[in-house]
Amino acid sequence: MSNGPIVRFAPSPTGRIHIGNARTALLNWLFAMRERGLFILRFDDTDRERSRAEYADSIETDLAWLGIIPGFQCRQSERMALYDSAATKLREIGRLYPAYETAEELDRRRKRQQALGRPPIYDRAALRLSAEERAALEAQGRRPHWRFRLEPATVHWEDMVRGPSHIDCSSLSDPVLVREDGSYLYTLPSVADDIDLRVSHVIRGEDHVTNTAVQIQIFEALAGKAPSFGHHNLLTDASGEGLSKRTGALSISSLREGGVEALAVAALAVLVGSAEAVRPVGSLSELAAAVDLTHLSHGAARFDEAELRALSARTLHALPYEAMRERLAALEIVGADAEPFWSAVRGNLAQLGEARDWWRVTQGEIEPVVEEPAFLAQAAACLPPAPWDLTTWGVWTSALKASSGRKGKALFHPLRLALTGRESGPELAALLPLIGRIKALGRLSAHAA
Ligand code: GLU
Repeated sequence: MSNGPIVRFAPSPTGRIHIGNARTALLNWLFAMRERGLFILRFDDTDRERSRAEYADSIETDLAWLGIIPGFQCRQSERMALYDSAATKLREIGRLYPAYETAEELDRRRKRQQALGRPPIYDRAALRLSAEERAALEAQGRRPHWRFRLEPATVHWEDMVRGPSHIDCSSLSDPVLVREDGSYLYTLPSVADDIDLRVSHVIRGEDHVTNTAVQIQIFEALAGKAPSFGHHNLLTDASGEGLSKRTGALSISSLREGGVEALAVAALAVLVGSAEAVRPVGSLSELAAAVDLTHLSHGAARFDEAELRALSARTLHALPYEAMRERLAALEIVGADAEPFWSAVRGNLAQLGEARDWWRVTQGEIEPVVEEPAFLAQAAACLPPAPWDLTTWGVWTSALKASSGRKGKALFHPLRLALTGRESGPELAALLPLIGRIKALGRLSAHAA
């Protein structure tokens, strides 16, 4: 195991992860990268009804696409014995007690408290039951759920994001840790796992702040001490709504399928709502060096898909051939021309898939657009001899300018239409040597009489 910090990302596999979940995963991963720590992927799959193996698989795929390779992975559904022994220990030290109220009874009590203007906190009636009263309830067939007895104290922690933080636990109900049917709610298994896996830093969304106060008390009861905690601000969509796993909105897989660059998703997911400018990065290590948990802002951070698309294009434009070699090869963009091709076209791509079209323009067949055959014949006649390089375009068009008397758009546009079949695109100076003399001659003479 690592000597550095140990962090974990703990999604419940009940849907596809979205950009907000990716923010949590990445903040953990980048922290582990920077501190040479261990990143654990833990599936919180104790909810058997809603957890699905295919969601767990899709989460792994999404994380791998983002560049996150967990050093260790586990599922809560396979670790029940650990939770049973944690619950036993809490019972033995008097911190976990049986309560028999039904949901309706609790609801009635809450309403009564509210009517009296009191906070709706569980009144701990179950703690006052005698052994005989408990036995009588059991004899009626009632099964208990189990509550953690909170110390009525203020819990303090130094939050990695928010700084000194505290919550007064006397304003909270004793949380239910075990349901009537013996199954666990999220709170206890998470702590039992964090202790067992020696998690040193819990980095998660600020929707967990109240859980943290409760969990710190459980950590202290079970292990004597708690890990460090950091709560990052949550992402909202462009209209300010929270993101939900269930709607599939902004899911990582839909962004991937939509041709968005993984590095752009990563950069935006962690830089938005921070003191750092949102900008393209060339690698996760570069991002790891830029991200500082203390620089996250405390308000909600808006995620805008249009901003992501623009960032994705800028990310692509800056990626060197070396970083793209394999992905280009997967598009069958290979061979000696692949590298100059990438340099020629990358600045014009909104997404990588478009590179295939430009590869066909330079290496395959196209339908040239011929508007002025006589001018194109004149252009063909003064094509410089091979071999061609990046200077050929300048030599050729200077000669053509002199012989035709044309300049600007009148000179260049018919050449672009004939050579590429398109209205716009990458610099012709870079495309021309890739198209080559034979194809260029063919395209310029395509409709010659
Ligand atoms: N399964 C919990 C969630 O997805 C994990 C929270 C935590 O990091 O402890 O919200």
